[in-house]
Amino acid sequence: MMQILSVASEMFPLIKTGGLADVVGALPAAVAPHGISATTMVPGYPRVMDRMANAAVVREWPDLLGHSARLLAAQVDGHAVYALDAPDYFDREAGPYTRADGTDWPDNGRRFAAFAYAAAACADDFDLVHTHDWQAALVAVYRRYGVGSAAIPSIITIHNIAFQGRYDAELFAALRLPPAAWHSGDVEYYGGVGFLKGGLACADAITAVSPSYAREVRTAEFGMGLDGLMRVRADDTYGILNGIDPAIWNPATDTLIKTRYKTAAGKRANKRALEAYFGLERGDDPLFVVVSRLTWQKGMHLLAEWLDSQPMAGWRLAVLGNGDRVLEQAFMQAAARHPGRIAVKIGYNEPLSHLMQAGGDAILIPSQFEPCGLTQLYGLAYGCVPVAARTGGLSDTIIDANPAAQAAGVATGVLFDLHVADDIGRAIARTCALYADTAQWRQIQRNGMRADFSWTASGAHYAALYRRVADRRARA
Ligand code: ADP
Repeated sequence: MMQILSVASEMFPLIKTGGLADVVGALPAAVAPHGISATTMVPGYPRVMDRMANAAVVREWPDLLGHSARLLAAQVDGHAVYALDAPDYFDREAGPYTRADGTDWPDNGRRFAAFAYAAAACADDFDLVHTHDWQAALVAVYRRYGVGSAAIPSIITIHNIAFQGRYDAELFAALRLPPAAWHSGDVEYYGGVGFLKGGLACADAITAVSPSYAREVRTAEFGMGLDGLMRVRADDTYGILNGIDPAIWNPATDTLIKTRYKTAAGKRANKRALEAYFGLERGDDPLFVVVSRLTWQKGMHLLAEWLDSQPMAGWRLAVLGNGDRVLEQAFMQAAARHPGRIAVKIGYNEPLSHLMQAGGDAILIPSQFEPCGLTQLYGLAYGCVPVAARTGGLSDTIIDANPAAQAAGVATGVLFDLHVADDIGRAIARTCALYADTAQWRQIQRNGMRADFSWTASGAHYAALYRRVADRRARA
């Protein structure tokens, strides 16, 4: 059995703010059939520590970059979990990265440097370390500079290259890296410290969460300043699609929805429940849903702008999300102007997100960029047809209902080129026309519900990559 340590700042069901948590939570079961045993290390936020009651102490640091810390190990809901119990860093209410008012914790750099340092120090007990995003990215840098044995390889997965962990140069001293690490081949990044940059420079291999995104990050448009490094590392970069966990996202077994179903006809009772929950008019016209962070990345500024001018005839919209305060306000105002036609819930609500997939006819995803995206995969599984911008993982997972795909009977959704807000309107109009032809719509739903986006294929890809990287290290 190959032992790996998966290091991330979120893991479903312990702590989740987005897709990262779902993927990190599903990964151990995805690679287990391939002889890989994964332990997942997360920060000891209050919600994590609540689940670590019977934990064993694996290691202690009197001074982990300035504060004391302990590493705890426990089995939580069948997962092998390591939690970094470091109250000065992680025993805080509000979000994992932000205060209650939505602003970043001012010491995020130190918090996640300490987290990565601890993970690097523990990695010797494993055959490989798999780090996720900027919060865990310094693991590879610490290991290059002597924290733990450099013989253990590491890989890093880019879930979103826009979040980079970029700090002023003053932070460097607090990281306790040797002066040699202040170098453009390591953590130095445009005169400051770059956590993700360091990880991408030092890890043995890199994965991005879809094949399209793995290519896109090499371009100036999507690389967010790291495209040059991603071109240099192109041969060590792999695109591996996220899967979905069928134990959690399956309309035939989901206990969070009104009525379970195996075919799209079973969605009707859920649609009625969703209309009632949101106070929407009852109706047979298509009900679009949005389940999303309300941010620029998700194209929510374009949707809010476009909604402003709509008569809202022939379709309705239910939105669940939170994020930018200005966008939250814009959606609330749209709902106030169109009572019964647009309804909005601001907040994070996991059970409601399931009912929205079950009750919605279509899920709208107008992302500016999308590394993989999970809500379109949940939409496919639930017969909630994805209507999505043609970018990143969205274009890898949805087959647009163009005439060729329709003739071949393989379409699963609507993909559209998104440049201006009106493009969203045209996509909605196209979706409404497809919906009006019931036989055609049912086929699109059926195709999506039958598509296999489980972890079967991607689990095998990760396992193969772990072995390839470990073998390469062993031979070096
Ligand atoms: P990202 O990770 O960029 O936010 P993904 O589509 O990869 O986007 O994953 C988003 C995840 O978060 C999905 O599981 C989605 O259902 C969930 N989600 C997003 N916003 C909310 C919300 N307001 N309430 C509940 N779940 C949400």
